[in-house]
Amino acid sequence: MKKIFFLLGLLPALNCFCQTDRSSFDPKVTEVWDLKPVKISPAKKIGDPPSDAIVLFDGKDLSKWTTAQNSEAKWDIKDDAMIVTKGKGDIKTKQTFGDMQLHIEWRTPDEVVGEGQGRGNSGIFLQERYELQVLDSYESVTYSNGQAGSIYKQSIPLVNACLKPGEWQTYDVIYMAPRFSENGRVIIPAYVTVLQNGVLVQNHTQIQGGTEFKGLPVYRAHGKASIQLQDHGNPVSYRNIWVREL
Ligand code: MG
Repeated sequence: MKKIFFLLGLLPALNCFCQTDRSSFDPKVTEVWDLKPVKISPAKKIGDPPSDAIVLFDGKDLSKWTTAQNSEAKWDIKDDAMIVTKGKGDIKTKQTFGDMQLHIEWRTPDEVVGEGQGRGNSGIFLQERYELQVLDSYESVTYSNGQAGSIYKQSIPLVNACLKPGEWQTYDVIYMAPRFSENGRVIIPAYVTVLQNGVLVQNHTQIQGGTEFKGLPVYRAHGKASIQLQDHGNPVSYRNIWVREL
């Protein structure tokens, strides 16, 4: 109790400090000149890769990709897009990543087939573990924490920013990888911010652990890992995929 009264007694002094007359201060003291951000060239068109991006798919081939089992990726390519090819399995980047900025464009089929989780389902697994859902959620009903823009079964998107099936959509993702102690316990969880079609749908969302279809998410320690795209059996297309390591 004595401590509380002591701290309360300090408040007028602190208030006085904050209201110090700054007119005699030199503004140069708080200017930083010796550290400069690296100069890069943004793309002329928003959504295209800036000069320091790693292009993962430019519409031509799957040379930056492999299957989840590390064999040749065999999704179809048509009109500058890669298409989930049923039975060919998930594909993942050959390069592994930690913290990153990711841009990816996706399109669910214009021919609407199926319901709920069976309509235009795919997904982007950050570090092969944490699924940012891809789904036709324009007018299709499913559980909210499983619709497009959700961190699957963990975080409902702030709004439904989906376009119609058959239209190209964008995800811009800022992802901070989890940090683990030497004995494998999570010290800092992963965080993700997602803009869908330019609209904020995940705002510095804390990821609870690896995506699970059944049961609660659990963290298992890992290092850098791939970006993995899900073959859920629906012909979802992807294009213009690039990443910047942070
Ligand atoms: Mg999915």
